[in-house]
Amino acid sequence: MGVVEDVLPQYGAQETIGLKAIILLGAPGAGKGTLAEGIKARTKFIHISTGDMLRDAVKKGSAIGREAETFMKRGELVPDDVILRLVEERLDQGSPDDEYLFDGFPRTLEQAEMLSASLRRRGSRVMAVFSLEAPRELLISRLCGRRLCRQCGASYHVVNIPPRKAGICDVCGGELYQRADDQESTILNRLEVFTRQTESLIAYYEGMKVLIRVDAAQHRDLAVEAIVGHIRKLPSV
Ligand code: ADP
Ligand code: ZN
Repeated sequence: MGVVEDVLPQYGAQETIGLKAIILLGAPGAGKGTLAEGIKARTKFIHISTGDMLRDAVKKGSAIGREAETFMKRGELVPDDVILRLVEERLDQGSPDDEYLFDGFPRTLEQAEMLSASLRRRGSRVMAVFSLEAPRELLISRLCGRRLCRQCGASYHVVNIPPRKAGICDVCGGELYQRADDQESTILNRLEVFTRQTESLIAYYEGMKVLIRVDAAQHRDLAVEAIVGHIRKLPSV
């Protein structure tokens, strides 16, 4: 018994979490953004959402935004080299002991391999990948009813999480809108693209022994609780 304890790393509840990169992997509608908010509130992870960064780039009309826009409108993936530039630029701005929570990235095996290489160069690695799993019908209904605040980005659902006043953000009074790619035909394409790409990603991270499956159909507080529980047990890099 004592022998086993000696060779196992000492995982314990830690106040400071000394790890560098974790990933939220989940279909559109699985709740990556919502869960990321909950995790951010309870840890010191920096949230990197490639979807948010791309929408920002499109809004600004930057070079990356112009390249990404047509793909995003159709629900297609933006090419890997564009995503890589986006993420590398972001990581270059950070400091070496930052802790990152990736949301919506990597989406393809190529992106996963690029991320591993980039983290290796930075003396780091992926510590955990949370695979958010929910039935397809639930994903579709979540996406169809999703509304976002134009001003602060807060997320609502016309049935599940309605604002107090229809069309108006509870937080800041801003106007709510539906994302251009949250239309039913585009939603089906996004789910299709996700399923096609994700199998190889799951296998890749399963091989690295960092994959953790999370029930994304349960209430978001419970899902956040489950994820934070796992994070606290992870070893430092
Ligand atoms: P969702 O997961 O709900 O589709 P995101 O905000 O993560 O929403 O992504 C929106 C769109 O941005 C995607 O449909 C895709 O066109 C593009 N995108 C975001 N992240 C990536 C990525 N890592 N690789 C390729 N395309 C991406
Ligand atoms: Zn708002």
